[in-house]
Amino acid sequence: MMRENVPLASLTTFRIGGPARYVHTGDSIASVKTAFAHSRECGLPVYPMGQGSNILAADHSIAAVVLKMENDSISFTETTSGVEVCAEAGTSWDTLVRACAAEGLWGIENLAGIPGTVGAAPVQNIGAYGTELADTFSWLECYDPETDSVLRLTKDGCMFGYRDSVFKQKPGPVIMRVALLLQREGTANTNYTDLSRLIEAGEALSTPHTIGEAVRRVRSVKFPDLAKYGTAGSFFKNPTISSDAYTALKLQYSELPGFVVEEGIKIPLAWILDHVLDLRGFRMGRVHLFENQPLVLVADADATADEVNALATAVAEKVCAATGIRIEREVRSFS
Ligand SMILES: Cc1cc2nc3c(=O)[nH]c(=O)nc-3n(C[C@H](O)[C@H](O)[C@H](O)COP(=O)(O)OP(=O)(O)OC[C@H]3O[C@@H](n4cnc5c(N)ncnc54)[C@H](O)[C@@H]3O)c2cc1C
Repeated sequence: MMRENVPLASLTTFRIGGPARYVHTGDSIASVKTAFAHSRECGLPVYPMGQGSNILAADHSIAAVVLKMENDSISFTETTSGVEVCAEAGTSWDTLVRACAAEGLWGIENLAGIPGTVGAAPVQNIGAYGTELADTFSWLECYDPETDSVLRLTKDGCMFGYRDSVFKQKPGPVIMRVALLLQREGTANTNYTDLSRLIEAGEALSTPHTIGEAVRRVRSVKFPDLAKYGTAGSFFKNPTISSDAYTALKLQYSELPGFVVEEGIKIPLAWILDHVLDLRGFRMGRVHLFENQPLVLVADADATADEVNALATAVAEKVCAATGIRIEREVRSFS
């Protein structure tokens, strides 16, 4: 199906964005190929899209063929190394998490409640509460418009990093389906304070189902209600800095948290926004940083992408001035 001049405000959780020239529905390889053929005819780029929960679309009209993935099915296959769960790109991510929990499968319960589709999950290697997609990822299939063929990529081919993958570095292919390897036996990963506190309070987080429900409850406080507010979740990535830079910053901010990762020291940006810059709830016009989690940018009804960009730029400048750290956006731009 193809529609013309569809406001992206109606297709994104920020509820911001001017009309896209064309929106195609992608529910099969044939429909994806049709969208690419149309894009070549009219000389416009193709922008794949799921539920628009990680996109800031520009206010002006967007000269592109938006390809909204809506193929959704889930299958389970027993293998000698676990259960292979295969889901089509348009499947809601949280529907998949619930379906796996209902089967008693371990591995993605900490990723409960993340908005969006299965097809977008590898793009930024979604992660939360000490788990990321890459931990259970097995393979994916994507349509590559350059070669007009379907490619199967394993974990190495996806080049996963922190909120990163080959699909961010080199956009183009459209993810059609994703396979994970989950286990019938497992233990709870409750290293994150929010979850360990629940255990201390006596909650039995002993199955993928109970953990998933606990994570959804914790998230309902950390993130604004999508039914009421426009947001794309965390707007910025947590920065990673060198250990020398971290040591220098600790002289100034002695309680600055830092976690050792392969590339250096990862800093929780929310701590800087909160304790160094006092930006919890910081507002410019119709956009503000969420009171319960300052990494999350919230847009009032009728806010514009220009207003979001202005606030995001102001925040990035303040962080740089106070700490020397240049922060990066997690949210993708459509313009
Ligand atoms: C309230 C809230 C909380 C969030 N919490 C988290 C969190 O805890 N952890 C986390 O990692 N993220 C989080 N996010 C971000 C978001 O949910 C994820 O990035 C999600 O994977 C986006 O899915 P989507 O279907 O909405 O993708 P979209 O926003 O539609 O697209 C995101 C990007 O993926 C590309 N894309 C989409 N589908 C495909 C496809 N089939 N093939 C190729 N490229 C594609 C798009 O072109 C775009 O660049 C949160 C967002 C919100 C609004």
